[in-house]
This record gives sequence, structure tokens and C-alpha cells, in this order.
Amino acid sequence: MPLTGLEIYKHLPKTNCKDCGFPTCLAFAMKMAAKQVGLDKCPHVSAEAKAALESASRPPIQLVVIGTGNNEIKIGNETQLYRHEEKFHRPAAVAVRVVDTLDDAAMAARLEAIAQMAFERVGTCMRVELVALDNVSGDAGRLERLARLAVEKTGRASLLMSAKADNLRQASAALAGQRPLLYISDPAQAVAAAQVAKAQDCPLAVRAPGLDALAALTPQLNAAGVEQIVLDPGTRGLKPTLEALTKIRRLALKGFRPLGYPTIAFTAAEDPLMQAVEAVTYVAKYAGVVVTDAVELWQLLPVLTTRQDIYTDPQKPVAVEPKMYTVGEVGADSPVLVTTNFSLTYYSVEGEVEASRIPAYIISVDTEGTSVLTAWASDKFNATTITKALRNSGVEAKVSHRKLVLPGLVAVLSAGVEDESGWSVEIGPKEASGIPSFLKKQWKT
Ligand code: SF4
Repeated sequence: MPLTGLEIYKHLPKTNCKDCGFPTCLAFAMKMAAKQVGLDKCPHVSAEAKAALESASRPPIQLVVIGTGNNEIKIGNETQLYRHEEKFHRPAAVAVRVVDTLDDAAMAARLEAIAQMAFERVGTCMRVELVALDNVSGDAGRLERLARLAVEKTGRASLLMSAKADNLRQASAALAGQRPLLYISDPAQAVAAAQVAKAQDCPLAVRAPGLDALAALTPQLNAAGVEQIVLDPGTRGLKPTLEALTKIRRLALKGFRPLGYPTIAFTAAEDPLMQAVEAVTYVAKYAGVVVTDAVELWQLLPVLTTRQDIYTDPQKPVAVEPKMYTVGEVGADSPVLVTTNFSLTYYSVEGEVEASRIPAYIISVDTEGTSVLTAWASDKFNATTITKALRNSGVEAKVSHRKLVLPGLVAVLSAGVEDESGWSVEIGPKEASGIPSFLKKQWKT
């Protein structure tokens, strides 16, 4: 369990010297308990106190860094079991598996498909960021060749998987300086793989049959000099894997250090739909890396969308800048649509305007990132805020008409908006999906 402020205070010098930047040792202890400051800020703490306080300054789940530069992925360092209690911090990395028994043409085609796996959603690019290279052949040369090809074709970070530590040594040497995640599938080779990970400065994922075996293994890896560890509880299939991931998260958050590491989960279903279901489940609870054979875009879209949703701060609505946006080659007679600055709402409207092929202005009103009905109910989307946004946007100087399209859900605001703004109001559709037909019917004429 993390220490409380008072428990930390007991170990501090209690001189209130202020060298840490806080007025008292107690204030420092409270900040440290809240994980807002590290013990290194107090230069006077003794070696014994440092050792005793280690658990307070270390995250319950180790931070693990995979890849470098633009391909750097950080997993772990989570502090919550339930997202609503604070937020989840580090999105699970999604890896698509490529086996080294494929022939060269099939290997290249699969890698090229992975390189294309990216989607744009609410203004953010979502993509598969890891390529899992599986040494099914058992041949070190083939894994090395696949590793080099994967970097060349995808430019993504690598997960090197093998049952043999020596094969990981050869492949990771080929990717020296790129910090691939090494995965050793044979528990008997885990310590030998730890030596490879230490020599190559790579994180290491280990498999063991069950939580007890994993808990017994991680201290051996620490003794070999490896702290950046990822845990595979050895389960395959949705139910046992979900149970194992949940137990590991619970135990880690309770301060059980041998399992205080991020986890890796593998989809095992043959049915393509179930592959996607498994991957979505592991992203939600609680994998740090999800490895899947799913390679179709329709399978990966729900996985990446779920990840984006789960790792959004639930206490902070995702908002776009409140201002005037243009879609297409707008002119003086282009329609003017009003919406809120909640990202999902804004991008839904923008996407549908684009689909209509009628260039338009969109005024996004500052509703503190809330949707149309929520903003209306809390009086953030009303005649005054809409009129203010209209005037501040500068759209009046851009168009020759004075007609405004209001979301159908807040048709009740139309009279007030007309009175305050002097613009006439057209009631738009209730759902963004109705925008193309609305614009084609109402606006073209
Ligand atoms: Fe106390 Fe250390 Fe801060 Fe001085 S530097 S006030 S001893 S916590």
C-alpha cells in the first residue's frame, strides 16, 4: 500500500529547513503522498529513511519504455483500478503479429498492411504502434531478417518474440539502439533473456504459468539487473486472461511489488470478430500491450477507438478551440452552422458537412467541451453565447446573407437567437447524420 503523508513524515528530518521548497516537512510529506513531489527534493533524508520510503516514491506499476524517438511507447505507471476514480494514464500499445514462417512476399505484404493501419478520429491520429515479430520457426536468422524488414517496411517499434534467449540476442542486436520489447515465451529461458535485455538495454516481457510463478520469476529478473518488465500470466482465451489481468492490477495497486509491472495479453480466438472482441476487452482491462492476429481495418478500428475512449480523462471533456471553421471552398453564400466545442460533436458535424460536398462555415461555441443538449441544459449554449460566438468569429464579414443553421435539438432557442443576433434561424437536423440531406435540400435552393 502507498504510504500516507503522516507515515512519510515520520521518516523525514523534521527540521522544517525549507530546502525542498516547502514550508515544513509535513507539507512536503503530504505532497509526496499525493505523488506530486519526489523524495530526491529533500537533500537531508538519511539512507535508512530513503530505503523505508522507497514504496512511497515508486509507482505501484513500473513504467516501461519501448522504442525510441517518434516510436517511443510508455506503458505502466497506472494508479487506478477504475477509470472514474481518476484516469488511466498510459494507453495500451496495440501490436499486430507477424510470424517468421511466412515467405518473403507474404511477410512484406503483411508488414505493408500494418504500416497503413491508421485512422483519424476527433482530430487525433490512431494507429497500430507495435509490430510483434514471432519466431515460430525457431531460427535465429529468420527472426533477425524479419526484424530488419519490419523496421524498413513499417518504421514502427518492434516486439521480438521467441522461446530462445539466443535468438532474441541476435535479433535485438540487429535493432541496436531501437529499444524493442523482448518477449521470451519459455519461462526456463527467462533469466538468460534478462541478461540479453540488460546487455541491449531493452525491456523484457516474460511468460509464466500463473500469477504465483510470475511473482517468483520477477525477483530473479531484478537480480539480473532488469527492472523494465512486462508480465504474461500465460493464459489464453477471454475469461482466464481477463481474470488474470484484473488480479495482477489489483495486487499491484495494493503494493505487491513482484507483480507491480504492466501486462501483455494475446488474442487467441480464430473467429475474426472474437479476435476484435478479445483485443477490445484487454485494452479496457488492463493490458499494457495487446498482441493480435487481427489485420483487417474493421477489426482494428473498434480496438483503437476503445483505447482512445478509455484513456481520455473522464473529468476533462475533449474540446476543440471555439472559433469559426471552414469546410471546403467557402464563399459569400455558403451556409453557416452553429454547434458546440465538444470534440465528438464538432467532428461529427464537420464530417457530415464534408460528406454533403457543400462548403460551409461552422461556428463552434465555447460550451466548455460539452455536447449540444448538455450545454443547453447547463445554459452554456443559449441565445447570448451563440450571438457572442457569431460576432467574435468574424463570419459576418465573410457572408452576404444572415441565415444561421441551429441544431434541431435546441430549436427552442431560435426566437431568442433571432432577437439577439438579428440573424434568421433555420432549424437543422437533430442528428449530425441528417446534415447532408438537409444542406442539399434547404441550402442549394
Ligand atoms: Fe524537511 Fe527535508 Fe524539506 Fe528540509 S528539505 S523541510 S528536512 S523535507
